[in-house]
Amino acid sequence: MKIGDITIEALIDGETAYPGEFLYTNKEREDWTEHEQFLDPCTGNYVNTLGGFLIRSGDRVIVLDTGIGSKPIYPWLGGGFRSSLLSKGVAPEDVTDVVFSHLHLDHIGWAAQHGKPFFSNATYRCDRRDWDFFVSPDYEIPEWESSTSNPAEDSAANRLAPVASRMEFFEGEQGLFPGISTLESSGHTPGSTVLLLESGGEKGLLLGDLVHSEPELYDDNWDFVNHVDHDAGRASIENALGSSDAQPRQRSAWLRGPARVATVAVRGRRPRSRSAAGGPPPPPSVADQ
Ligand SMILES: [Zn+2]
Repeated sequence: MKIGDITIEALIDGETAYPGEFLYTNKEREDWTEHEQFLDPCTGNYVNTLGGFLIRSGDRVIVLDTGIGSKPIYPWLGGGFRSSLLSKGVAPEDVTDVVFSHLHLDHIGWAAQHGKPFFSNATYRCDRRDWDFFVSPDYEIPEWESSTSNPAEDSAANRLAPVASRMEFFEGEQGLFPGISTLESSGHTPGSTVLLLESGGEKGLLLGDLVHSEPELYDDNWDFVNHVDHDAGRASIENALGSSDAQPRQRSAWLRGPARVATVAVRGRRPRSRSAAGGPPPPPSVADQ
């Protein structure tokens, strides 16, 4: 995908799948009935892809989020991030910048490997509020994180220790690179970040974990279970999507690939397809990236 002169490609580390109703505090199985096209037809579960993005803009080679890492606990699957990066013709040492949308364990898995920065030449960045929250000795890892990982290795404090000296921090809205800036998007975590891409008259959003499935894009009453601040999370979704200038139906049409790693809304482009009934189209495959 291109936003003007900025190129975006999905980097797939793995996936996890749960019954759709497990993802939201206020939804039951029947609430997914009208959204069945977004569920895995084999299992009926909602599949969330884990990974990140490769963003190329000018001389910058940017990785946004680094997956869950090589040793998650089922039903979380990971380990493909390096291979996905290499498949794009990029070696870890080619990456100039790493940006974390937030510091949940499924976004920092490849920040370091074997106690060393995985991206050996990169500057790492995140919102300071997330660093202060997750790396604090007072951080109490929630059950959903501890049960899907090895906290002694995978917690933010441990995983990010090898890159601490490389960290640069931003807070709220700030320009990072030409055409790429952050939006204030706290709620999922204290310093959750949405990247706003603007180039050639087009606009795109990389939403991180602000949105976890397609129905959230055109219905404002899907309350994700693991937001730290539920009200702020929902408000941030509206703020971010409002900045895309897309109507709700268009938002859904502009989903590209699995929502978790590939949620992009673009101004200035028509959706490529709609379902015959005029409703939201099925999600395109990763190959459409
Ligand atoms: Zn998260």
